[in-house]
Amino acid sequence: MTGRGGRGGEPAQIGEVLDHLAHDLDGASSTTIGAIVRYWPEIVGAELAEVAHPGSLSEGVLTVVVDDPAVAIAWLLANGAERVAYVDVDVHHGDGPQAIFWDDPRVLTVSIHEYSPGWFFPGTGAMTERGGPGAPGSAVNIPMPPFTGDEGWLSAFHAVVPEVLRRFGPQVLVTQLGADAHHEDPLANLRLTTAVYRAAARTVHELAHELCDGRWVATGGGGYGWARAVPRIWTLWFAEMADAIGDLPDALPPGWVTDAHDRLAATGDPAGAFPTTFSEDALARSDADDVAIEVGVAVAAMVGA
Ligand SMILES: [Zn+2]
Repeated sequence: MTGRGGRGGEPAQIGEVLDHLAHDLDGASSTTIGAIVRYWPEIVGAELAEVAHPGSLSEGVLTVVVDDPAVAIAWLLANGAERVAYVDVDVHHGDGPQAIFWDDPRVLTVSIHEYSPGWFFPGTGAMTERGGPGAPGSAVNIPMPPFTGDEGWLSAFHAVVPEVLRRFGPQVLVTQLGADAHHEDPLANLRLTTAVYRAAARTVHELAHELCDGRWVATGGGGYGWARAVPRIWTLWFAEMADAIGDLPDALPPGWVTDAHDRLAATGDPAGAFPTTFSEDALARSDADDVAIEVGVAVAAMVGA
């Protein structure tokens, strides 16, 4: 690993840490935490350039320090799993796991993401990216145009994801549940409401039981609407996982709303009309939804779903 950070020796040192991670997966969690603590000044100072969203170590962009879903997948493969499916609903392309398992037929990577090369990070994730020569078809990409909303995203998701998972037949499902495709996320431009997450969680949960005897490893991911969007979305996912979503009241706990509002306001955000429910009004559909629906049909045709 060569360093492009501002301090000659440091990137090589974190490269050694990452090499250690790859060879000592049992110690992965403690090593990860130790590495983050050790290198935190360089991380926040953006002097460690050899880290990327999620885990594409050559791109030189400081977003993700260690690719936790890829570490989980590598651990599963090292401990007997023969087929692992990775599903990434983060608004950014799941470039790290795709690159890491590009030529590995044991891992199917599926990513649905905002796609606008040259403008929206990271710019990879075209539908033509399908896996390496040793694993053709092992990567599936569903590139959504900016401003896609609920209808387009869900249509594309359902046109592709269930069928490609059924045909692959994973023993374990690993998901990256980034919440940054929500319309309140400040970094991205998709326009999903919480209704999408509720529906996607249901589908993923059903697939985990249909295909994997319920074996589902869920990781977090992006999400920069940290007060208004992420807590609601991850609560919906977790409630679905816990078979508790039917018991979840729509109203957010009033004490939580007050606390979250005040914390957001303390950052200078005009926290005004803070959400008080999990559900929210649907947004108007746009031309991007029509494009997204067509993308879903095209990807389904390409992958034979
Ligand atoms: Zn993201």
